[in-house]
Amino acid sequence: MITIEGKSVFSGVEIGKLYYFSKKKAEILQQIIEDVDAEMARYYQARETAVEQLEGLFTKALNEVGESNSLIFQIHQMMLMDDDYNEAIENLVRNEKNNVEYAVQKTAEDFSAMFAAMDDEYMQARAADVKDISNRILTILSGGDDGGFVMDEPGIVAASDLAPSETIQLDKSKVLGFATQFGSSNSHTAILARTMAIPAVISLGESLTEEMNGHMAIIDGYTGVLYVDPDEETLKTMTAKREESLREKAELEALIGQDNVTKSGRKINVYANIGSIDDANSAMACDAGGVGLFRSEFLYLDSRDFPTEEAQFAAYKAAAQIMDGRKVIIRTLDLGADKQVDYFNLGKEDNPALGYRAIRICLTQPEIFKTQLRALYRAAAYGNIAIMFPMIISVKEIHRIKEIITEVKEELRREGKKFREDVELGVMIETPASVMISRDLAKEVDFFSVGTNDLTQYTLAIDRQNEKLDSFYDSHHPAVLAMIKMAADNAHAEGKWIGICGELGADTTLTQTFVDMGIDELSVSPGMVLRVRRQVRECE
Ligand code: PEP
Ligand code: MG
Repeated sequence: MITIEGKSVFSGVEIGKLYYFSKKKAEILQQIIEDVDAEMARYYQARETAVEQLEGLFTKALNEVGESNSLIFQIHQMMLMDDDYNEAIENLVRNEKNNVEYAVQKTAEDFSAMFAAMDDEYMQARAADVKDISNRILTILSGGDDGGFVMDEPGIVAASDLAPSETIQLDKSKVLGFATQFGSSNSHTAILARTMAIPAVISLGESLTEEMNGHMAIIDGYTGVLYVDPDEETLKTMTAKREESLREKAELEALIGQDNVTKSGRKINVYANIGSIDDANSAMACDAGGVGLFRSEFLYLDSRDFPTEEAQFAAYKAAAQIMDGRKVIIRTLDLGADKQVDYFNLGKEDNPALGYRAIRICLTQPEIFKTQLRALYRAAAYGNIAIMFPMIISVKEIHRIKEIITEVKEELRREGKKFREDVELGVMIETPASVMISRDLAKEVDFFSVGTNDLTQYTLAIDRQNEKLDSFYDSHHPAVLAMIKMAADNAHAEGKWIGICGELGADTTLTQTFVDMGIDELSVSPGMVLRVRRQVRECE
């Protein structure tokens, strides 16, 4: 038995034959050609065929994996028509008299190296796309088909990594799981696995080899392990684990498309918490009604310098578009305390959790705040975006936020930039102060979202990071529950809605309590959405 450890991108257990997706590469030789026009005509013909194929794949993907996951094939069509890409090929053919196969391959290598060298993780992932479109052209030029990956029975698909056009060729009904040597949690394989809700393990490295093709394997998406040629005992344990996971999965999947309604017919919104654009795909895959908390600080944590307005605008817009009209509540940056970034130069503090963090940074460095608000208001023109503010302790803060928003809108208007005027605004209820003044806060905003992680920390005076205090950190503490109830009553007294986006929202032993309090929304990690839906449906 060979045991290979990787990184799980979706849970579940599957057992089956390993199908190694081999990327057959015809060797391409550099040749000097005479008739450059004829050579370019071959290229244009191949490109036209490629665009047609991609259109076909787009339609197929649209039916199988939905709009957001099929857009990649439209992007590929655009990439094939990209001026820079085409000029590079033409230059190698016309000016340097290379054969078109060589020109395409060379351009693919140059462009993918350029993408791979970029700082932005998303752009790095595009290196695979450039190779993918170029390979398509090369296959067409060589008169070949798409590689013909055939699975004669259901199995686990293994590969170095899979490009979108490769994943779409797969017969989904036969794919039990994905195991890849490389890839990131942003990779198409990971996205597809999350969309299909099948176990996937990436980063297995070179220990996963093509020679394993046809061997029996077990993929454990809970632990991120791939077993090849499993021994009797592992097979027995894993078979039991698989049965258990399948039972639960089927039960949960039956809830996709169902309402989150209690037995007496009260509807609760079950949304997802996300920390990246990619997570929005997971939110959609589990049929979340929206995003209840988009932790925008990920953009700052992933950067070596302040993310620009454009980068933020693109990220928020992308998340909203993936969510396809469902509400996306984006929280303004919540840095400080445990979330430090060098370029903010926040300095060392004795009590960072009680220190310079979140809205306190935004209100004292309005230029940083304004950049984010500009991006948010602009992105809101393209989707159902709402904004919420973390660590609020006073009405004065809301007034100041509103003044800054007014300035931001005036600037955008002056500049003729497209933005949305009436974005819903909310506050996080995560300090005892915000609970105590929740009636006044509710007059100022459209909604509340309870951050139970911090609310527990500040109510019980227990550092949420300190492992030694785990046994004292009791989020079921009556004081915490009373706080949530008080905020709920005050929100409703002012006709506003209230959700919970802290971890406690996913605690299904409390779902009935939250329903009784009149909580309108529970925002939980994507993997918990259907579990919470199931629990809501069992509530009175
Ligand atoms: C919370 O405090 O409960 C919360 C949702 O925010 P974070 O965990 O990001 O502080
Ligand atoms: Mg918090």
